[in-house]
Order: sequence, then structure tokens, then C-alpha cells
Amino acid sequence: MSDTADPTSAGSLTLGTPIQYAPGVGARRAQLFAKLGVRTIADLIKHIPHRYEYHAGQTPILDLPIGQIATARGVVVNCRWAGGMGGGRGRGGGGRFTAQIRDDHGFLDLVWFNARYMRDKVHPGMTMIVTGKVALYNDQRQMANPKFVLMDEDDEAAADTDNVDPKQATLAPGDGGDGGDGGGGGGDKWSDERYRPIYPATEALPTGAIERIIEDLLPTALPQIDDHFDDAYRAERDLPTLADAYRMLHQPADEDEVKRARRRLAYDELLLLQLGFAMKRKHVQTELSAPPLRWSDAIDEHIRERFPFKLTKDQDTVVRELAADLQKPIPMNRLLQGDVGSGKTVVALYAMLMAVSSNTQAALMAPTELLAEQHFLSISRMLDGSTVRIALLTGSLSKPERTALLYKIERGEVDIVIGTQALISETVQFNDLAVVVVDEQHRFGVVQRAVIKSKAGDETRVPHTLVMTATPIPRTLSLTIFGDLDVSTIRHLPPGRQPIATRVVAPDKEEEVYGYIAERVRAGEQAYVVLPAIDESESGLKAVRSHAAELEKTWFAGLNVATVHGQLKRITRERIMQRFRDAKLDVLVATTVIEVGVDVPNASIMVVEHAERFGLAQLHQLRGRVGRGERKSLCVFIADPTTDDAAARMKAIARTTDGFKIAEADLEIRGMGELLGTRQSGLPPLKVADLTKHMELLALANRDAHTMIDADPKLTDASHDLLRKRLVKQYGEALGLADVA
Ligand code: ADP
Ligand code: MG
Repeated sequence: MSDTADPTSAGSLTLGTPIQYAPGVGARRAQLFAKLGVRTIADLIKHIPHRYEYHAGQTPILDLPIGQIATARGVVVNCRWAGGMGGGRGRGGGGRFTAQIRDDHGFLDLVWFNARYMRDKVHPGMTMIVTGKVALYNDQRQMANPKFVLMDEDDEAAADTDNVDPKQATLAPGDGGDGGDGGGGGGDKWSDERYRPIYPATEALPTGAIERIIEDLLPTALPQIDDHFDDAYRAERDLPTLADAYRMLHQPADEDEVKRARRRLAYDELLLLQLGFAMKRKHVQTELSAPPLRWSDAIDEHIRERFPFKLTKDQDTVVRELAADLQKPIPMNRLLQGDVGSGKTVVALYAMLMAVSSNTQAALMAPTELLAEQHFLSISRMLDGSTVRIALLTGSLSKPERTALLYKIERGEVDIVIGTQALISETVQFNDLAVVVVDEQHRFGVVQRAVIKSKAGDETRVPHTLVMTATPIPRTLSLTIFGDLDVSTIRHLPPGRQPIATRVVAPDKEEEVYGYIAERVRAGEQAYVVLPAIDESESGLKAVRSHAAELEKTWFAGLNVATVHGQLKRITRERIMQRFRDAKLDVLVATTVIEVGVDVPNASIMVVEHAERFGLAQLHQLRGRVGRGERKSLCVFIADPTTDDAAARMKAIARTTDGFKIAEADLEIRGMGELLGTRQSGLPPLKVADLTKHMELLALANRDAHTMIDADPKLTDASHDLLRKRLVKQYGEALGLADVA
């Protein structure tokens, strides 16, 4: 490229240069860029369009061909929102947003239906490029639901006021009389046919401005982008160079270029992630060890004697898989997935008791205190009369209690510790921890990062880990969330379960619902009523306290009603749960603290108020609280869905009780991206890779990562320098690679 000898300031910019010094940016815009996460020139190059709009050449409004698709450009002269019936709420409620733009020659009417959001976007004085089918309506040219891009000439003028003749700034805005090209200079740039990048932008820093800045920068920046792959590596996988990929993303000649470029970046993203996992796994397998546990027929029999039932075939299979892993000195890293109520707890207990048989310790981590308490109770019951020492460690312990317990754990005077996340805090020191079970884990990142030390003073000894989840995870997803975790599955529920009848009803059916339930409860059944909040807020949603009070006064008069939520003290909550378990309470009005794990077989009825507010997985979990006993259970979701997604959720939950199918539906509704979000994985989100499209690419990246790590476990070879640097930057912290690499 010719710019290498360019003596202008642009020529001295490097990828690390703060964005402020890029041409056309300056201090004010640098602040706006910071809001988009863009701080350096490199960040800006990585700020890639989230979509493109195809623009045919623009046509003067008066020449727009009726009945054909065309593109016009003009200044908005007026706009109006006309709300639909019933305030425009709900589907099909209507409402329409109309606007009119003008160019040198005429006016064009625009209309968007069901487009309430347009109200905040489009205002008089803005310049728009619209593409759509041209119609003649009331003698006026009109486009219905056109695609559009908002231009920003005003903004460009405003940005220059810092250092330029103020007269110029007063010229550009509002000079609609002289036509749409008033922004100075940039006018005909858009008149060719082309794909226009649309960038993530803000109101103050619109996509058009970003586009122009990037366009100016590319000739300087692209030649500076080093590739971490050599030509042969790329050729084998049909990948363009990084520099080419960025050029094609910012200035694609056609759709194909966008695809090729995205494929390259997606590959890089997936490869880095798989490399991180592979490196970590290699490290665990080769440099760390876990206590090998003993196993024999006698031990097996001894453990099974503790269970009040015979294990199902699925449970048996999983137990065998676990036993095989646990006997090895290689740390186990296994995911156990099984639907709500499938009986994961005993399987975990089996593993923990193997640890106890080998005179080592085990820990069980639950996501909530309530669940930890319940595990403690039910496991204590199963171990009643044995010599196994078991303790509950939660945040509710008093300081002296906690100190005393920690001391016992450290001395090995406790065999099984049950607790919340607090268990993996630094202060808990085990004597010899062999097995860690993480129950109902939604935030997998925590486990990912923490390589828990097994023995004080021995940095290389770690426990075996079993992670349990009721949300089945598609293979692709587990590859990206966990890396190569081994997976065990319990597919079938224990025998004797009664199917749960599910009903989704509108709020105005409340009378019938509670009337019917009161009848069944009076005949001896127990019920949960779940609400999204503890106290009524300004949102006007029903809440635990007030709703419980109302129920007691009306339908449930004379029944024993109690409330459970996160604000209660542990001891109070435990007492209430125990009374419910003992059937001394008829109805439990609760928040989602009862969402996971709560196991009261006699409870056979559940009502969820404002069900549209809950996620699909959450609804499934909640419903899983019933259907655990001999009775035929009923679950009623009272819902007023106002979005398509909410309606889809209600439909899905009513259609099936199979957790695997629910998980699939959830994926469909929310998309992979959501499930892959930071919340779930604790990892930086994938920006380009889309697992619904890049499945093969993931397999390729996974294979390549393994080949690479097998040959060069820490990527210390000089040829991997750049790759390694980028890996550590991206995932070093999230995957805890610091002690690995
Ligand atoms: P989850 O997989 O949701 O954690 P749990 O471990 O809480 O399920 O088990 C749900 C219920 O099923 C419990 O009441 C448990 O005692 C019971 N259960 C588990 N395994 C069996 C079995 N093999 N036969 C009969 N009941 C079982
Ligand atoms: Mg459970």
C-alpha cells in the first residue's frame, strides 16, 4: 500500500494509539467511543458491523418508480405516532408511525406499522436513507415499512466546532432547502450500489460517523495487523488473513466477503476458547493429581444399603462411570445432567461416600442456602446411624460457630461438608478433600476458575469434581461452556411418578383457579403459590406478603398458610419448610427460593402468578417441585404474556414436561447467544461465532486446539507466540490460565 511513506500524522498511528488521535475523532468523540468499549485504534478495527444494508443507487423522490423497490434520501420534515387500540399494548394492538421526508424535488411519505420503537428514533431534521417498495397513496409517493439508515451530517458539523470556524457549523444543520447533500463533501459517497456497514452505535455517535472514521483509518491500520497463523495453516482451512478479514467486514464488496470474514473471526474466537480449555485440561491431567479412591463390591454394597430405594438403570450406569473415574489419580471433571426429579442427589452421595470409604473428605455445594439445608437434612436422614460425620456450612452460621466448624474441617473431623458457594472461599481449608459436588450449577464459571486445592500445602493435589445440572446442555454448548467435560446423563425418572397436568390461564381465571385448589387442599393435598417478588412494588405485581394475606382472608380461609422468601432468617425458613414437609402447613406462598431442589412429595399443586415473567427453564424447575409423590399433580401458570417470546414460553411449558424438550425450546426462543451469555458461563461472550451456524467450525477449532496442545502443551514454541499472547489476553483471567501457562 502506498501509505507506508505517508508523512502525515495518520501515518504514525499504530494499533495501540488511543482513539482520540485518530483523524476526525478528538477528545469529545473519544468519550463517546469509550461508551462503546472502543479505546484504541485496534478496538475500533474490532468494532465490527452487526449488520449491513444493501443500497441501490438513490433516486430523486419524484423519479421513484411506483411499484418497485428503490432507495431515496431526504430530511425528515415531520413525524407522528398514532397509538393503536388499547394503548397499543399487546400483539396486533396496532399503532403506526408516519413520517415525511423531502429532497430537492419532492416529498415522500413513510409509514411503519406496529413500530412504537420508531418514536424514539426518528425526529424532524434528521437525514434518512430509506429503501422500500414505492406506492402511490393519496397522490403521494409512499413507502410502507421501509428499511432505513439515519445519517448524521449535523453531527459531523457539530463535532468540528471544537476547532473549526463556527460559521461552518451553522451552515450544515437545517439547510434542507438546499437539498440532502448539505452535509458537505460526503454527499455522493453513498450514491453507489453497495453494502453499507451498520455499526453498533449510540445516539450521539451514529453509525454513519463511525463508518467514516473507520474508512479513513483502514489504509493505515490494516497493514499493521499481524496474523497469528501462517499461510499454510490458513490455506488448509480456507481462511483469509486477519487484515483481509477486517477489510471485508468494514468494506465488503458483496455478501460473500462478509461471510468469509466472519468465518475467519469466528474460527479465531472458537479456537482461542478451545485452546484455553485444552490447555487447562492438559495441565490438570498431567501436572495435577487427585486422590485415587478405593472401590470394591463390599464398598458398593455398603453404600447402596444407605439408599431407601433401588437405583434405576440410568443411575446405575452413572454410578459405574463415576466409580471408574474416581479410582484413578487423574482428577475427574464430569457433568451429570438429569431432569428435575431424576434422582441426581443419590448419585452424588454415592461419589461422596466413596471418598469417605477412603478416609478422605467430600463437599457438596448448592446454589442457595435453602437447597443446602435440604440436602443436609435428606442426606443426614440417609446416613442416620452411620459413623459418617456431616456438617452444614452456610453464611447463616454465627462467627464462633463458623470458626469452630472450619477448624474441624481442617483437622479432618468432618467427612462430608454441605454448603453454598461460600465453600470454595479461600478460608475453607480441607484436610484431604477428594470429591467436590456442585449442584444445580448455573454459574459454571465459578467452577471453571477454581481449581480447588485438595490438601493443605500440596499445590498439585486437587479433588475430583462432579457438576450437576437439570438443564440439559447440547453438546455444542457444553464444548463452549466447559470445554471437554465428560458428561453423564440420567434420562429416565424413577418409577411410580405421576404425570403433572399443566394449565396456562389468564389472570381473570383467578377465581376459578383458587376455588378449585382450595377444594383439593381441603381434601388433604398441599400447594405452593409462587410470586415474583416479596413486597408489592410500584410495578403493581402481586407479591408474596400481600398475596398470602389475601389468600388467607378469601379462598384459603381456615387453611394453614405460610410464606417463604429470601429475607427470612435461616432458622425461621427451616422451621417453616419442616412444618410444610410434616404437612402441618397446607399452602406455602413463596418466591423462587423454592425454585430448585425442594423436595416435598406430598405437595402436589403449584400455582405460579405472573408466570410470563419467568424464564422457561425456571418455570420447568418450579413445576418440578410437584409430581414427586403418589398423587396426580397439577401446575397452574397464571400468565398475561405481552410479548411473542413470553407467549412462546407459555406454549412450550404447557406442551411438555420433558426437560430435554424444554431445553431445546428454550434454545430456540432465546437463541444460543443468550445461553452462552456471561451470566451462565462466566466467560467473555463470543462476539462473532454463532453456534447455530458455526457448528462445523467449532468441531474444527476443537480438533485443531487439541492437535496444537498435544504438540505444544503451553504454546511456548516461538511460532505460537502471538497466538498465546492473544489467548492469555482473552481468556487468561476467566479460565484461570495464570497458573497453567
Ligand atoms: P434431582 O435430580 O432433581 O436432584 P432428587 O435427587 O432430588 O432429584 O430426587 C428426586 C426424588 O426422587 C427424591 O425424593 C428421591 O428420593 C427420589 N428418588 C431418587 N432416586 C430414586 C429411585 N431410584 N427410586 C425411587 N425414588 C428415587
Ligand atoms: Mg437436585
